[in-house]
Amino acid sequence: MKSIRTDIGYQECINVACRARFDVAEPLFECPTCGDLLDVRYDWSQAVLPKRLNDFEAKWAVPGDPLAFSGVWQYHELLPFAPPQNVITVGEGKTVFQQADRVAPYARMNVGRLFLQYEGMNPSGSFKDNGMTAAFTHAHLVGATRAVCASTGNTSASVAMYAAVDGRIPAIVLVGSGKIAYGKLAQALDYGVRVVEVEGDFDTCMRRVKEVAKELGIYLMNSLNPFRLEGQKTIMYRVIEGLLWDVPEWVVVPGGNLGNSSAFGKAFQELREMGLISRLPRLAVIVAEGADTLYRIVNQERLAWNDGRVDDARIAAFYDQMDAENRRAKTVASAIEINRPVNLKKCLRSLEWTGGLVEKVSDQEILDAKARIGAGGFGCEPASAATVAGVRKLRDAGVIDADDRVVCVLTGHPLKDPNITVAYHTLDDEVIAEKYGAYGFTKAPHANRPVRVADDLDAIVAAIQA
Ligand SMILES: *Cc1c(COP(=O)(O)O)cnc(C)c1O
Ligand SMILES: [Zn+2]
Repeated sequence: MKSIRTDIGYQECINVACRARFDVAEPLFECPTCGDLLDVRYDWSQAVLPKRLNDFEAKWAVPGDPLAFSGVWQYHELLPFAPPQNVITVGEGKTVFQQADRVAPYARMNVGRLFLQYEGMNPSGSFKDNGMTAAFTHAHLVGATRAVCASTGNTSASVAMYAAVDGRIPAIVLVGSGKIAYGKLAQALDYGVRVVEVEGDFDTCMRRVKEVAKELGIYLMNSLNPFRLEGQKTIMYRVIEGLLWDVPEWVVVPGGNLGNSSAFGKAFQELREMGLISRLPRLAVIVAEGADTLYRIVNQERLAWNDGRVDDARIAAFYDQMDAENRRAKTVASAIEINRPVNLKKCLRSLEWTGGLVEKVSDQEILDAKARIGAGGFGCEPASAATVAGVRKLRDAGVIDADDRVVCVLTGHPLKDPNITVAYHTLDDEVIAEKYGAYGFTKAPHANRPVRVADDLDAIVAAIQA
């Protein structure tokens, strides 16, 4: 153990009936007492905290220091489980916060009120790097020799990248066969990680990876790992930084395994406890219609965090019913094609803390929004576009005000899933309906079709002038 900060940090079970505590030096991904999720918690009285959030601006002046350069570790004081000299960083989190005036009208927002947080600008092309730098740092501190994850794609790309750069913790990734977008698989292969394609979907891989981690004693890199979520808190610190240390009215995030929504609620709740902010934004978690477990649990089953007394029996019954009906997640947004979100209960807690809500959008709405995001900015992958599609829907329902400040977290880079983007812009609607109709994606009203011409100057000029 290399001097992990056991004086400041500890792990605690989120189950109020259990509340068991464990050392931060233990590599755990569930409570050994009751099996529930764990939080990383801190005794803030032992920590060195800024008096005001803009004290963090001092870090901008020391770009040569990796701790100040990383968009995650520049907030080290707010996730102080590791000694600063031990962090493993590749310069993640240098992402872009953009006022998206050209996308705002599509989201039915007033100009100046829609903001996009481009987490696709991370080194491996998704927000996952924010979490992985923290998890790899923890893995090192506890002496892990191997790492493993289950993945819909981006987790594997991120784990593979850190394993490749660091070189001391070889990694294994489990992906569902045929379930991973090409850009993501390309990365995992290129970074040299061992890729195991399991017959089945993400949920199958997730169940198996826990067994593998236990059986072989391998460090687990999925968002069940509470240290990963500590890194993902910093996405919200950077949003507040983008608003010159102010809190927006809404934060909108796609919901897959619900690690982000869990981390974001914790980030804001902690800042309020420290007196660094005075109110929390409302969290809107957007899921795909074809992967709507959270939507059903919250809006139909009416299950809630309920001060920590979650009705576990009803969640179990919900999943039994899902299996009995053989309902399986199906969406073109592969990053959120998940039946059993592992951080469900932490997400319910975030929704309670923030007065948040859950909305669902169709694959058609996701891909149309994706085209508009691309046409007005740097673009994103399908799962990320659920956010803007969700805002549009929540505006129409009168839930979000056109003058609220709304921040959509664009979780992944547009090149992660080039196949669906090229299909959208090049295929005729009949072909789309035939190929993707089962997903509810049948037309491309915002397609930017390439123009085919002969090798002839007049024809080329005519195509340009058309
Ligand atoms: C992992 C991922 C998600 C899902 O995030 P959760 O934190 O698991 O809810 C969404 N979008 C992209 C691009 C992802 O890679
Ligand atoms: Zn417990």
